[in-house]
Amino acid sequence: MDEEKSEKTSKNGSFHETDSFDEPKGAPISMEPVFSTAAGVRIDVKQESIDKTKKLLNTDLNASTSSKSFSSPLIKRSNGNSAFVSPFRRDEPSSSMTTRKRSAGNATEEIAEPPPKKPACEDSSEKKQKNGKVKKDKKKKKKKEKGKKKSHKKKIMKLTADVMRVSRNYERDQMRMVLQESEGSPLILAICSYVCGRSVKFGDKIQIEAEVKKKNDSNVATEIQFDKILKNDNNGARKHISRHPISCPPYCNRPRFIHELSDLEIKKTVLQVNVLDLNLEIYTGCVNCKHAITPDPETGRIQCSKCRESKTKTMVFGRMRVMDFSGQIYVNVKTKTMQKFLDMFGYDDVDQWIQFKEPHERANYVFQALMIEIEKDLSNEWECTDVAEMNWRAYADYLKEKEEKQLRRAEKKMKQLSNRNDSQ
Ligand SMILES: [Zn+2]
Repeated sequence: MDEEKSEKTSKNGSFHETDSFDEPKGAPISMEPVFSTAAGVRIDVKQESIDKTKKLLNTDLNASTSSKSFSSPLIKRSNGNSAFVSPFRRDEPSSSMTTRKRSAGNATEEIAEPPPKKPACEDSSEKKQKNGKVKKDKKKKKKKEKGKKKSHKKKIMKLTADVMRVSRNYERDQMRMVLQESEGSPLILAICSYVCGRSVKFGDKIQIEAEVKKKNDSNVATEIQFDKILKNDNNGARKHISRHPISCPPYCNRPRFIHELSDLEIKKTVLQVNVLDLNLEIYTGCVNCKHAITPDPETGRIQCSKCRESKTKTMVFGRMRVMDFSGQIYVNVKTKTMQKFLDMFGYDDVDQWIQFKEPHERANYVFQALMIEIEKDLSNEWECTDVAEMNWRAYADYLKEKEEKQLRRAEKKMKQLSNRNDSQ
């Protein structure tokens, strides 16, 4: 029933059809703004229906997990802690209500999870310390800015580092990468123009001369900018490093809210979402072009009709509906990412993928919180290109920073306005 309703939301989606929700008329309705997704589909997100769906799904979840024979793959976890904690989990009866408009402050409170274990995430705590010193830093900054104007000297550093992750930022025509000089050393966000960095891949070892843009408290560079790669040892680091996860800072692509995707400039980003629905297609595909292959009915021969390749592999194609507080979208998931997704939930071979399709398995993934990376594909649909377990602490820090940035921007604007008025 809940599915039917939400289906309506996305299909009809038009602003005037609020009556299609079977809610008591005349009840106080809190309307969230109408958001249009990048695909041009308008979705009006009514908070109440989100809450309702949330509740229904939760009940559904609780009911079916208890009567299920399949042991929940969620529990299968290396460090023994089930890190998947839905923000809508109903520990206290009130929690589902407070999640409604989760401010950064609230989010911090909600985190009672053990600190992130990966060294990659450690700098988030540094940021927290920074936040505590905001006032002090502000004063310092002002002084620094004055000093800068006098000296005008750029701090340049030369470094050779492993590329832990690389990602394109379409809006700014940039390539953004996470670099690390050696194992255990702090992660550096490096930014260059698209043209300069487009050939860089994960696992490369690059040598650059870069301008330092940001340092952390211990005076170590955390953000740099460069315009030339001096040397690229292709795949030179691939064997000993693993990809920097999308759920940990520094973010190659910054996380956004779904409603922000109405900005058509955004073609690649990271979202924090809850899974609402997932349709999975398992097929025999061509290893080369990934098209489905069916054996010739007469000869029984197997050959790809598109590229003549005869090697096949079991592949999956998923279409996933996800939401955050600001809206919902569909994303396509191809084999590589789908495999990662299924693996996260403990379905690690083809037999289990088939099992995954059964309706009662829904309880294992519906409403789970995830971090996903999405990118517009050639047909202008969103494709999920990576998926990671939620790192609530890092995400809360990020949201806090984002909020502060917006506040500062607003303050600046106000100041400019009042200055203008004064001079008139
Ligand atoms: Zn093919």
